[in-house]
Amino acid sequence: MTAEPRIRFTATQSQRLRELGAGAQTAERLFASSDERDAHFKDCEGELVRSGRRHLADVRAGERAPQLLALEQKLRQALIAAGFVQMVTPVIIGRDSLEKMGIDHAHPLRQQIFWLEDGRLLRPMLAPNLYTLMRRLGRIWSRPFGIFEIGPCFRRDSQGSRHLNEFTMLNLVELGLLEETCAARLTELAALVMAAADIEHYELSRTRSEVYGEMVDVEVGGTEVCSAASGPHPLDGNWGIVEPWVGLGFGLERLLAAREGYANIERAGRSLSYFDGVRLNI
Ligand code: ATP
Ligand code: MG
Repeated sequence: MTAEPRIRFTATQSQRLRELGAGAQTAERLFASSDERDAHFKDCEGELVRSGRRHLADVRAGERAPQLLALEQKLRQALIAAGFVQMVTPVIIGRDSLEKMGIDHAHPLRQQIFWLEDGRLLRPMLAPNLYTLMRRLGRIWSRPFGIFEIGPCFRRDSQGSRHLNEFTMLNLVELGLLEETCAARLTELAALVMAAADIEHYELSRTRSEVYGEMVDVEVGGTEVCSAASGPHPLDGNWGIVEPWVGLGFGLERLLAAREGYANIERAGRSLSYFDGVRLNI
């Protein structure tokens, strides 16, 4: 008689397999005996280690670029091909930028700011800088025009499986649209970015608020990868913007984790434990 399979990996084994990139199905398998389990663990670990080493060898040979950089490159190319202009703005911003974004002491994001000693801060988002450039370039450029930035942002977010303290944001905005076309344009731009990120399946979750207008999140398997909005927006006055616009903010590590099926976003982010999604203690 064979025993019913009900023996799990030990917590250490299961954690090791997950860190090496095993899916939930592998890490949660059941076995008839601890011998069978330990043998299976060795096989799985060996296979994952070999595949991690192959990946690192390919990167070393120049056969593949690190995924985060490759994604950034694809997004940049797609947006430039669509007529957007890339911006490069400061990572250190002033406290007034927060206030003009409506992030006052009551706002949850206020608790997540990395403050510098002189009262300035590491930007938690790209929107304040892009609002400023939208106004300044708007004095010079004809309508409509689009700008974007891809760069680091910082938040003291609770370090769960979906939050990093430093992550990479893509924010694109387009100014000077007809107000009645904004919602459709937002959908179109979300599709453009998701195609460039090679993610086929995603959902748009729309909410309409009297105060904030059209709000849209892009989700992959229930995880938010983007929040988007369109103007006129109540904050526009703070920034001297008086025309309709659309703006979308994507997290690149969230996009990578979604596309690669990573259970933990740490694998996709800046890290000393992982390089390009590969655990380094192999
Ligand atoms: P969440 O509710 O998931 O914490 P959020 O709504 O606070 O996210 P937004 O301010 O809408 O995030 O930022 C736009 C995008 O930036 C998010 O959709 C997400 O992809 C990414 N992002 C935000 N915070 C983080 C973080 N701490 N780590 C990684 N990516 C993040
Ligand atoms: Mg959001």
